[in-house]
Amino acid sequence: MSGLTYAPAVRRRRNRSSQPNLQARVEHRPDEIKVLFLAGKGRSGGTILASLLGQLPGFFNAGELNKLWDYALMPNYQCGCGEPLRSCETWSAILAEADRLYREQTGAPLLSEGVGLAQASVVRWPKLPRLLRMSPGTTEDWPALDTYTNAISATCRAIAKVTGACVIVDSSRLPFEPIALGLVPSVDVHIAHLIRDPRAVVYSWKRVRKLTDRDTGEEFPRYSAAFSTASWTIRNLVVEMIRRRNPVSVVRYDTLASDPAGTLQRLADFVDEPAGDLGFLKSGRAYLAPTHSAGGNPVRVSSGSIAIQPDEEWREHLSRHDRVVGTALALPLLHRYGLSVRTH
Ligand SMILES: [Zn+2]
Repeated sequence: MSGLTYAPAVRRRRNRSSQPNLQARVEHRPDEIKVLFLAGKGRSGGTILASLLGQLPGFFNAGELNKLWDYALMPNYQCGCGEPLRSCETWSAILAEADRLYREQTGAPLLSEGVGLAQASVVRWPKLPRLLRMSPGTTEDWPALDTYTNAISATCRAIAKVTGACVIVDSSRLPFEPIALGLVPSVDVHIAHLIRDPRAVVYSWKRVRKLTDRDTGEEFPRYSAAFSTASWTIRNLVVEMIRRRNPVSVVRYDTLASDPAGTLQRLADFVDEPAGDLGFLKSGRAYLAPTHSAGGNPVRVSSGSIAIQPDEEWREHLSRHDRVVGTALALPLLHRYGLSVRTH
């Protein structure tokens, strides 16, 4: 029977405060790779935040790493640099090194159906209680989790080796990904908790948007107000739960839009790395170099001069029905996050 052998429990000062905007300083182990995991509901500014963080020296914007197992196997899915991921030089080198590391450990190839199937069987809402019970150092017979975490670990180690990055930005959002729970060997995870008004999130998930990072003509799925608000609430509650095990820094959508430089500086301090020159941010715009994000919102493929401003269209155009549903279902957390019940 093969058991899980996670990295030894990391000695850290945990953030146990009930205040959501506190940051915890952590003791970093030199043999671990820092990962800044962006957690929360999609359409909360995470893609642009990851692109901004990718401009900082020593930071690598990996995009939504939990999509890698789709993107790396599809010939027509784009990397953030605009190349198909499979022909991007950076990701080709990363995946070759990750494959070497993974084969060394498991004897199996990294890019195979096995990892994707393992991910699909582990990262499911019904598995949330079991995942939350686990901690670094836990030994349990769960081969699929072993497969998935070893693959992520090999990928993170390969990113660090190939790019020289000291912080990997993972914008996967889903807060019970094993990497967010601190269950991936060799990874020291810090969580950036993205919070946006749920009524804005509802509106965004109802808009028609094309998936422009592939040539299939697909559109984003669209969801009802009830589904989006329930998802927003549950994801935020899970982040609240994992604040007891990993350091968390809150990033509010409005603060990111109004003060991107301050937000980047705060997150750089959070992971204990210098932010460097923030001159690429100027009066409501950012001048972005392409990053090699693998998977996520197609906005990540944009580079050059980008406007950084809040999208407030929802305040005018969200229907009364969706406004009521979004407010009612999110009410307890609206209060907790200091968001107004009124939207005008
Ligand atoms: Zn690329």
